[in-house]
Amino acid sequence: EEGWTLEEDLPEEGTVSEPKQRLPMVAVIGRPNVGKSMIVNRLSESYRGGSIVHDLVGTTRDRTYRRAFWADKEFFVVDTGGLIFEDDPNQVFLKEIRQQALIALEEAAAVIFVTDGQQGVNPLDEQIAVFLRKECKVPVYLAVNKCESDNGEFMAAEFWTLGMGQPFAVSGIHGTGTGDLMDEVCFNLPKVVDPVEDTAINVSIIGKPNVGKSTLLNRLVQSDRAIVSNIPGTTRDSVDEMVENDGKLYRLIDTAGIRRKRGIEYGTEFFMINRAFNAIRRSDVSLLLVDGTEDMSDQDGKIAERVVDEGRGCVIICNKWDAIEDKDNSSWKKMNDYVRESLPQLTWAPIVVASALTGQRTANVFKEVDNAVEQHRRRVSTAVLNEVLYEAVSWHKPPATKAGRQGKIYYCTQVSVRPPTIAMFVNDPSLFRENYRRYMEGQFRKALGFAGTPIRVVWRGKS
Ligand code: GDP
Ligand code: GDP
Repeated sequence: EEGWTLEEDLPEEGTVSEPKQRLPMVAVIGRPNVGKSMIVNRLSESYRGGSIVHDLVGTTRDRTYRRAFWADKEFFVVDTGGLIFEDDPNQVFLKEIRQQALIALEEAAAVIFVTDGQQGVNPLDEQIAVFLRKECKVPVYLAVNKCESDNGEFMAAEFWTLGMGQPFAVSGIHGTGTGDLMDEVCFNLPKVVDPVEDTAINVSIIGKPNVGKSTLLNRLVQSDRAIVSNIPGTTRDSVDEMVENDGKLYRLIDTAGIRRKRGIEYGTEFFMINRAFNAIRRSDVSLLLVDGTEDMSDQDGKIAERVVDEGRGCVIICNKWDAIEDKDNSSWKKMNDYVRESLPQLTWAPIVVASALTGQRTANVFKEVDNAVEQHRRRVSTAVLNEVLYEAVSWHKPPATKAGRQGKIYYCTQVSVRPPTIAMFVNDPSLFRENYRRYMEGQFRKALGFAGTPIRVVWRGKS
């Protein structure tokens, strides 16, 4: 039907041309709350274009970096992450920001340093400026955000004191000024016509402290697999571990945070959660570790929820199986049931009961990751989806509202992968309540599996 053009570009199989060069990275750096993610969103939105796809922003994210273009330049925007820190920014914070920023800087072709014009120059901005002047070898562009008001230019001028050159008054919310800024940023960016796509599978190892993340990481890295340390362009994250298994390349994410944990006492739950969130954002699949010898807590739930929100694949590793005493025939099932019950967000994630310490069943992890990745990238034909839809509707019609209005579903189609996202085209989305939406999602899952990946169902009206 006309008017339902979907601009999500799912390439036809076999049409991908030989890649040549990496796209340049533009790193967005700044203290929390200055509007970095707002700016990143604005830049990467321009990549998608089109109104329907615009609605899907947030559901169709690129896995690690956001792709963007401006004028004739294509690039990735890298958000250095919403760092959360405590009231008195001490060494701990500085180390965190350094670590995050260094990763981004190492591979960046340009840096956008974002500050908050409404708050004025902040001591943390000054620290970041000092840091950038010292560590950064590529051009830095100073964006003074939240300058949508009439005296925006005036507010921005104050930031000359940072010594980072001309401040650009911008507003991530309104979009004012971002054009001039991007013209400037892009002027010096290399133009890449035929970009290399990074093929490594990004795997984050996440979970509460002490569940065995570093032990598992070491296990995965040390087994008789080649550790790939100098593939060009893959070593940029000194904190990530590249591992090859069965001919495929995996990037194990956030190992630095894990490794350095012993050296630096971060302490707060904030840091734990924040680090996990950053790792999740950068991954295709998360290995969510839980400790089989302990009760689960809402920290586990919080992390699980984030995996779902970010639309990442997931494999649950129930660790420390070796330490469970008096195991009998029912122990394994009991453990599985307990984990399922405790993580209702992840009913679709496979559970591997394992021991990172002894290596028991850790060999299964790569296989489970591969399955999850395959499902995460899976495309189902419109014909098959509509068969499922037809069945589902004939079992259970959309209920009419009290006012007698009847929801009608015309058809559905998959609009994106990572995670699989199905758009339902209906007369009026507001006629479909939460429980019917859940029913429909459940039917897709029941019919199509999608084990290891969340799926999304978005409801689109005619206007
Ligand atoms: P980040 O932590 O640097 O990624 O900051 P966010 O992008 O999450 O934004 C932090 C807050 O600033 C949010 O409440 C935004 O709504 C607000 N914000 C972001 N950009 C602008 C802007 O251009 N103008 C105004 N007034 N507020 C903004
Ligand atoms: P992290 O904080 O999640 O990185 O956890 P670590 O990998 O540092 O492990 C925390 C503690 O649990 C260490 O004492 C490990 O030796 C222990 N541990 C990790 N995995 C296992 C396991 O499979 N079985 C047992 N018994 N102990 C484990």
